[in-house]
Formats: sequence, structure tokens, C-alpha cells
Amino acid sequence: MAFDAEAIRSQFPILSRQVHGKPLIYLDSAASAQKPRAVIDAMTRAMEYSYANVHRGLHTLANETTDAYEAARASVARFIGADVNEIVFTKGATEAINLVASGLGATLQAGDEILITDMEHHANIVPWHFLRDRLGVVLKWAPVTDQGVLDVEAFQRLLGPRTRIVALSHMSNVLGTINPVKTLTRMAHDAGALVLLDGCQAVVHQSVDVRDLDADFYVFSGHKLYGPTGIGVLYGKAERLAALPPYQGGGEMIAQVSRDSISYADPPHRFEAGTPAILEAIGLGAAIEWLSGLDREAVAEHEAVLYARVREGLNGANWLRVIGEAPGKGAILTFTVAGAHAHDVAQILDRYGVAIRAGTHCAEPLMTRFDITSSARASFALYNTPGEADAFVDALTRAQAFFA
Ligand code: PMP
Repeated sequence: MAFDAEAIRSQFPILSRQVHGKPLIYLDSAASAQKPRAVIDAMTRAMEYSYANVHRGLHTLANETTDAYEAARASVARFIGADVNEIVFTKGATEAINLVASGLGATLQAGDEILITDMEHHANIVPWHFLRDRLGVVLKWAPVTDQGVLDVEAFQRLLGPRTRIVALSHMSNVLGTINPVKTLTRMAHDAGALVLLDGCQAVVHQSVDVRDLDADFYVFSGHKLYGPTGIGVLYGKAERLAALPPYQGGGEMIAQVSRDSISYADPPHRFEAGTPAILEAIGLGAAIEWLSGLDREAVAEHEAVLYARVREGLNGANWLRVIGEAPGKGAILTFTVAGAHAHDVAQILDRYGVAIRAGTHCAEPLMTRFDITSSARASFALYNTPGEADAFVDALTRAQAFFA
């Protein structure tokens, strides 16, 4: 079935606006995606019609809101093939990784090893650095090849008797590389390590089945998945969540509190202290239901065609260096332009109405690996069109003329 990007676009109000008198061409979805009407309406309706705090009321609005909040959790669980009690709502992927790192930290000793990769986002680096600083655990880094592919043999060699945790991205936000996470998870488990997968990018572009992947933890953010900011997901296998201590203390996460004793609620509530992001959870549930109603393989094919079109359009551009050419990669083009700073490229493209990102993409070790200090990134989503892909190529070619 052909995918109708124009019909999809019309569901995103923001995409009809102009920037500098030009139609907006939004190529920054890997940083944060735009929101369809279904998400906007679900959140508005909740605020206009059925809103109260969750889990503590005996009145109609509290019960309706609690039902909507828990229905969102059920949508997330279905979406990734998990049990509903294995889904913890967090502020985002960053908070989810911090929660796991902080909880697992209690089980580690100096000299234990955590294996990550050179292509991680800072969200999947810094929380492990905290443990290195505080506990003396050793951070190991699996390398990537010049093509931007994870070196699986080196990964295997870096696994050892002291490896306790392996944390890696399912899909890189810079290279677009999709890692063979099922195989890597098996290798890590064989070495006796727990596995956390950062699914921020992958979950947007492909179906994810956490049971099939078998990772112990899987995290992602709502706002890249066409949902709102302020909400994210920590999936943990039931027995792994049950073994984790609470991350924050407050209302709703306890079983019983007295002056001199405390016991905690079972997961997932143990990890949701205080009033949660109720509206945002409802918005994320709506985003997931909306996305699940599409033919996701057709969406992936559409995005692959857009990427191939851009790559083809830039073929032979001797002023362009593409960072990340892994086979089967996702629709993310990270690049440098000879003689130009990435920020300048992005600012010129903005004048053409084209929104791209420039900087380190929160992946400084990866920038160092490729011997650059910054790069520009165009990332494609289901609402982008072939016409936009061509307009990007055209705008970039004009922009580079300023630096030639
Ligand atoms: N991991 C990856 C791969 C990402 O792309 C991002 C967002 N750029 C994050 C983690 C962090 O997500 P958030 O800022 O929403 O917590």
C-alpha cells in the first residue's frame, strides 16, 4: 500500500505554517517530532472535560482521569509487547536511564564494568559516569567503524566476567545506525550482564517487541514519538523492576508510612512518586494509538525512500561529508560542509524555511570519534514529502555556495 504523506501532513496543524515567508520544511524530528491533531485533541479534551488528579479520588472526574492515565499505560504496553505493570511513566528517556542507573548502582562494586558504545547520546553516558565517579566502576566503550557501524567483534571482546551492565542505543540519533540489539542482548546476557536499550529513535521508526529483544530495560521519550514533552517510558522486565529500589520518594509510591517505618508500592507505582504528568501520559497514549493505526512498514518504506532521494540528490557533492553510512540505517543525514560551521549552515537553511539541527547532538564522544567538533543533521519523519527532500537538497546546495 502506498503511503500518503500529504494526507498525514494535513493532520499536523503546525506543518502548514511559514518560516521567513517560505513553507516550513521540518527536518528536525529526531530532536522532537511535531504533534498530530489526535494528540492535541486528546490533551485538550482532557483539560476541558475530564481532569483531576489521579489515583486518589472518589469522585467522577478523578476516576475518569485515572482510567485515562492507566489506559495510556496499557497503550504503551501493547505498543511494545509488555505487561502493563512493566511500564513506568517517567519525564523522558533521560529520567528513565537515570532511574535505572541509580537503582542498579546499589548493586555494583568498584571494578565492576559497564559497557556502552561510542554512539551513545549523553543521556546514556552521563548517568553511567556518575557511577564511575561515585563507585569506581569502569566504563568501557564499544567502538564504531568509519562507516558508523558498531564493531560487534570488539563488543564481544569487551564483555567479560566483571561486566554487569550493557547500555546501548537501538538506533543512533546521529548516525541513524540501527544496532543488532537482539544479538547484542544475547551476547551480554551470556556474559551475565543486564541490558538497557535506549529506544528513543528506534521506537519511532519500527515496531518494537520487548519480549523478542529480551532486554531487561527499554526506554524512550514521548516527544519524538509524535507525543508531548514531559513524558517518557521505562519498560523493565517484571522481576527487574521488582528488584529496583525507589528512585524518588513522595506520594503514591508507598505501601505504608509511619513515623519509623516505610514500605513501598509494587512497580510501576513505586517509581512514580508525586503527581505524574497526567495530561502528557494521555497525549502519549493518543500518539501511540494514532501511530498504531498506520501501516508502520509503509511508513518505514516512505522514510527510506526520502533518505535515498536526498542521498542521491547529494551524490557527487565533493563539499559534503556524511557521518554514518551504515547499511539499512534510518532516515537521519548527519553531515559537515567543507569550510562551513554547522551552525552557519543551519542558519542559512532556516532562511529557506528548512529546519535542521546543528551542534554535537548530545554525542560528544561520537564527534571526537569522527574527529569533528560539530555537524549538521537533517532527520526525516512520516510527514515529510519527496518535494521537501528535493527542496532540502536545493537549499543545502545553495547554502554551500556561500562557503565555496
Ligand atoms: N537517546 C537518544 C538516542 C536520543 O535521541 C535522545 C534525545 N535526543 C535521548 C536519548 C534523550 O531523550 P530526552 O531528552 O527526551 O530524555
